[in-house]
Amino acid sequence: MSRLTVYDTTLRDGSQREGISFSVSDKLKITQRLDDFGIDYIEGGWPGSNPKDIEYFRKVRQLDLKHSKISAFSSTRRAGIRVQDDLNIQALLAAETKAVTIFGKSWDFHVTDAIGTTLEENLAMISDTVAYFKEMGREVIYDAEHFFDGYGHNPEYAMATIRAAEEAGADMVVLCDTNGGMMPFALQKILQHVRSEITTKLGIHAHDDAGMAVSNSIIAAEMGFDQIQGTINGYGERCGNANLCTIIPNLQLKLSMLIVEPEQLEQLTCLSRYVAELANLSPQEQQPYVGENAFAHKGGIHVDAVLKHAHTYEHLQPELVGNSRRILVSELSGKSNVLYKAREHNIDLSKETPETKAVLDRIKEMEYQGYQFEGAEASFELLIWKALKVHQRLFELVGVRTFVEKIGENGNILSEATVKVRVDNREYLTAGEGNGPVHALDEALRKALLQVYPEIRHFHLVDYKVRVLDGKDGTGAKVRVLIETRDERKKKSWGTVGVSPNLIEASWQALVDSVEYGLMNANKAKMKELRKAVKQFRMEG
Ligand SMILES: [Zn+2]
Repeated sequence: MSRLTVYDTTLRDGSQREGISFSVSDKLKITQRLDDFGIDYIEGGWPGSNPKDIEYFRKVRQLDLKHSKISAFSSTRRAGIRVQDDLNIQALLAAETKAVTIFGKSWDFHVTDAIGTTLEENLAMISDTVAYFKEMGREVIYDAEHFFDGYGHNPEYAMATIRAAEEAGADMVVLCDTNGGMMPFALQKILQHVRSEITTKLGIHAHDDAGMAVSNSIIAAEMGFDQIQGTINGYGERCGNANLCTIIPNLQLKLSMLIVEPEQLEQLTCLSRYVAELANLSPQEQQPYVGENAFAHKGGIHVDAVLKHAHTYEHLQPELVGNSRRILVSELSGKSNVLYKAREHNIDLSKETPETKAVLDRIKEMEYQGYQFEGAEASFELLIWKALKVHQRLFELVGVRTFVEKIGENGNILSEATVKVRVDNREYLTAGEGNGPVHALDEALRKALLQVYPEIRHFHLVDYKVRVLDGKDGTGAKVRVLIETRDERKKKSWGTVGVSPNLIEASWQALVDSVEYGLMNANKAKMKELRKAVKQFRMEG
């Protein structure tokens, strides 16, 4: 029995999404990852449409792919000319891929009005093109564009187009919901009819304009269709394509179909985020299975239950798709959140101690002021140390001054900062310059501390985010600053937070936490000592 194959078109249909522009090198990297993951077919592009795709097909031949077959995409020959004379077709042939994907018209209205030819000529275009590529030894996948809409208007003609592809020898006929508006039950009836008349392998290519692309693809799979087409993260034009990051785990974990090896499925979250990274899009937090929030728990009662029996609030184990459980610390926190979160930081606070309550109260109070620790794990850990009074200051601020100057309408803005800190009764005064006051402040603080803590030169600010907390007060509103710092040597990064009505003050708090945490973390002995002290509290409590 043949196995269901997965066909990825992230590099062609997916790249139609607004804002995505993959370079050739991005495309090659994604190809490699899709191959590692076990995708059966990778549609690399449309060689007739742009030179970048031609270069991709030249270079992809040099990749050592273990599993995936590369397919190149193009339309049927144009009306009124021979296949051999069609430049698009010749470009498709020159791509030298094992498989080719030919799309053709199924909707009579599109044939007569969009490409302006006769219904008979369209059938000949399908048939000639498919037959030509079979003759050239290619595996031919035929995409029936607008199949469902065409079927709705003229079912006989829509069926005639896919019959033409079948008779010309297509290896796979793929029914496309190009406009993405199909409802599952209506689609299912059409699939049943096609199944009863076509013996060639069948696939589905669904778009998500009605939010049904995943459902429609799953229905086809359950009916025994042979191929599902889609994209990583559902990227695609308008509302996107069928999301393979949802479909694959659904098929494998819910419907017991073997799509990829279990170890490969564990790469899913990683793959999803990798493609988002190269697409230069933020990962979608609420995406099923792979989203940052897919297994995140916030409410106290949920957390209590999840800690006892994970399945109470999780439909499956996050590890199966390479994701992980997260417990969010928030105003809703019950004690369990704090316990779990603390345990993530190797801080063991047992439930009954007054210290747990002290930490919890402190978190609630700080969140009330606008702090949020979800992206600021390092500030959270520092907060615990402070609440338990085991925290040791590494430096003390004597004074800080920032200076911003702009001369003339078109003058550059100059930012400077001076920082004076005290370490072991010695004072260090330094100045820094930057492209903004926070940058200057960061420079000055590092310069001052570098004299005492040389490891600080490995820390880099990698992200800086500002959120205005209460829009009502205009420029008087509070801001929350989130900073992410990375220790290049240890390949570790950590987040810190600061809140104040003053941007500089909020940034300063986050910077101080960032440096303090980084230094603590760089000093294994100190870290051990701190964690031991935290444990001590538990024993005594
Ligand atoms: Zn499409």
